Amino acid sequence: MLKVHSFESLGTYDGPGIRLVVFLQGCAFKCLYCANPDTISFKGGTPTSVDEIMRMARNQKPFFGKKGGVTVSGGEPLWQAGELVKLFKQLKEEGFNTCLDSNGNVFNEDVIELMKYTDLVLLDIKHINKDWHKTITGKENATTLKLAKHLKDTGVKVWLRYVLVPGYSDQKEYLEELGEYFKDYDNIEKLEIQPYHKLGVHKYEHLKMKYELEGVPENTEEQLKRAKSILDSYFKEVIVN
Ligand code: SF4
Repeated sequence: MLKVHSFESLGTYDGPGIRLVVFLQGCAFKCLYCANPDTISFKGGTPTSVDEIMRMARNQKPFFGKKGGVTVSGGEPLWQAGELVKLFKQLKEEGFNTCLDSNGNVFNEDVIELMKYTDLVLLDIKHINKDWHKTITGKENATTLKLAKHLKDTGVKVWLRYVLVPGYSDQKEYLEELGEYFKDYDNIEKLEIQPYHKLGVHKYEHLKMKYELEGVPENTEEQLKRAKSILDSYFKEVIVN
């Protein structure tokens, strides 16, 4: 059984084409800007069988077209990699495109197995510097970088995702360091800059959690353009999402 937080049908944001997006419960990061803080706790979630998700995927298949398919997001999906292997194996057998949206904070035998059935990883890099990474997420980035290297070595396609938080992850020197670090990763097709937003803030009150970035403004157009122009010189394609 997978512990599911929620589903999104006809999703267009998490991977190519039109997709069924499965959000799993539980994440070991506590990103200061997390827009879905209700997915962080490892408690809760609805136990859902692989068969049930396969049924939903088959029902929605007519909408997927050539590019679409199934994305598993979170929370952090790799905590449930063992069970996901069963799902992805079956999805691939039936010709579905499979995609994972992950912060890369889990790297074990199950994850290695899962990647054999994964067409695309949307890999969230929260920060290239380990201290800033810890400030933003509560954890260091070593495991994420290890997974990124594994994906490079095995040729799994990656879209990097990078949330641009003013004063936290928009420093010129670190954007350059990010580019230098990944510039020879041929498996990275593009980098998506995700503007910092406050759409999830109301959830914090409800969960009785403190929102730490209260005073941080959303990005200006200028900041987004500047970050894109720095990253453009390192990646095949950079988009602002
Ligand atoms: S990795 Fe994603 S789900 Fe986990 S805390 Fe960060 S933003 Fe939230």
